[in-house]
Amino acid sequence: MAASNTLQAFNTLHLQAQAPALCIITSLNQLREALADARALGLPVLPLGQGSNVVLCGDVVAMILKIELYGRTVLSVDEETVTVRVAAGEDWHQLVLWSLAQGYYGLENLALIPGTVGAAPIQNIGAYGRELAPFVTAVHALRCSDGEVLTLSREHCAFGYRDSVFKHALRDTVVITHVDLRLSRQPRLETGYPGLQAELERAGVEQPTPLTVCDAVVALRRAKLPDPALEPNAGSFFKNPVLSRSTAEALHAVYPQMPLYPQGPGKAKLSAAWLIEQTGWKGVRMNGVGIHPGHALVLVNYGGDNGGALLALARDVRAAVANRFDIVLEIEPRVYGEPG
Ligand code: FAD
Ligand code: NAP
Repeated sequence: MAASNTLQAFNTLHLQAQAPALCIITSLNQLREALADARALGLPVLPLGQGSNVVLCGDVVAMILKIELYGRTVLSVDEETVTVRVAAGEDWHQLVLWSLAQGYYGLENLALIPGTVGAAPIQNIGAYGRELAPFVTAVHALRCSDGEVLTLSREHCAFGYRDSVFKHALRDTVVITHVDLRLSRQPRLETGYPGLQAELERAGVEQPTPLTVCDAVVALRRAKLPDPALEPNAGSFFKNPVLSRSTAEALHAVYPQMPLYPQGPGKAKLSAAWLIEQTGWKGVRMNGVGIHPGHALVLVNYGGDNGGALLALARDVRAAVANRFDIVLEIEPRVYGEPG
C-alpha cells in the first residue's frame, strides 16, 4: 500500500487528484486484506478499473483498489452456448476479440468499449443496439464490510438502461471479482442500428458475420469518438433521457426533427446529443475544458488539471437543456471528490 497517491494516470480524463492510500489488487486474498486494512483505517474503498467512467473533481478520501485480477475460464459448453468466467481486471475489448477468435459470439457490437470486465456490469455497458445484461449469468463480488463472497444472478443485478443494482442498493458496498457470461456458439447478429448498417454497406459487406460486425463497430468508433489518449475524455458525459412516451411525444410535436426511440412499454428515449446541439453548446471550449466539436456528449479535458472546470461546464450545459426543453440530463460517469 502506498501513501498519498496521485491518480492522474489512473483516469482517462487525466484529472489530477490525490488519495491517501492505493493498493494494486492481483489476488482475492490481497483484496480481502485490503478491505480489512481499509476498515481498520476507517477509509471507504474505491475500486478502479481503467478509470474511463469516473470524474475526479478533487482529492478522494478513500483507499483506491486498482483491480488487476486476470483470467478467463470456460465453465461449460453445449451445442448452442458456452459459459465463461472472466476476472474483473481483464480488458473488455480484449475479451471481445478473444471470444470471437474462439467462436463464442454475441459481444461483437460491444467492441472497443474502454474499461475492464469488472466495471462492465456497473452501468450495463451498451452500444450499437446491444448491451451486456442478456449475456450475464452471474456476477461474483466480495462484500466490503466483511470480505464475504457474494454471487448475484442476472435478476439480482437489476440491469436497466446504463444502470444496475451496483449504482443503487449495492453502490459502494461490493468489489466485483468475476463475471460469468453465456455466449452463443451460433452467430446471432444485431445489425439493425442505422450507423452500423451504413458502415457494413460502406465496407462492402453483403453477408455480415460476427467478425465483420466487430470490424465495422471498431471502424465507426475510431472514426467518431475522440481517443482519450489524445483528447482526455470519459465517453458520453450525459445519459440519453428516458421519459414517459406521452411526455416524449408532446415534446416531439413541438420539435418534429427531434430523434425519439421507443424504450420498453410506455417509455421513449431521446438523444442527449441532439438536445445539447440545439442549445449551441457543442464545440464550446473554456477554462481548459470543452465539448468535443464532433460529439456533443463528450466533454474533453484540454489541459486543466482538476475536474472543477469540467463540472462547471457540465452544469452550464444541463442548465441550458433544462431551460430549453425542461429535461434534466443525468451525468453518466461517477463523480468523486466534488468540492462541498
Ligand atoms: P472505472 O472508470 O475504473 O470505474 C467506473 C465505476 O465502476 C467506478 O464507480 C468504480 O468504482 C466502479 N468499478 C470499477 N471496477 C469495479 C469493480 N471491480 N467492482 C466494483 N466497482 C467497480 N460505456 C458504454 O456503456 N458504452 C460505450 O459505448 C462506451 N464508450 C466509451 C468510449 C470512451 C472513449 C470512453 C472513455 C468511455 C466509454 N464508455 C462507454 C464508458 C466506459 O467505457 C464504461 O463505463 C466502462 O465499463 C468503464 O470501465 P472502467 O474499468 O474504466 O471503470
Ligand atoms: P449515434 O449512432 O450517433 O446515435 C446517437 C444516439 O441515438 C445514441 O445515443 C443512440 O442511443 C441513439 N440511437 C441511434 N439509433 C438508435 C436506434 N436504432 N435505436 C435506439 N437508439 C438509437 O451514437 P454514437 O454517439 O456514435 O454512439 C454509438 C454507440 O456507442 C451508441 O450505442 C452509444 O451509446 C455508444 N457509446 C457510448 C458511450 C458511453 O460512454 N456511454 C460513448 C460512446 C459511444 P444509445 O446510446 O442508447 O445506443
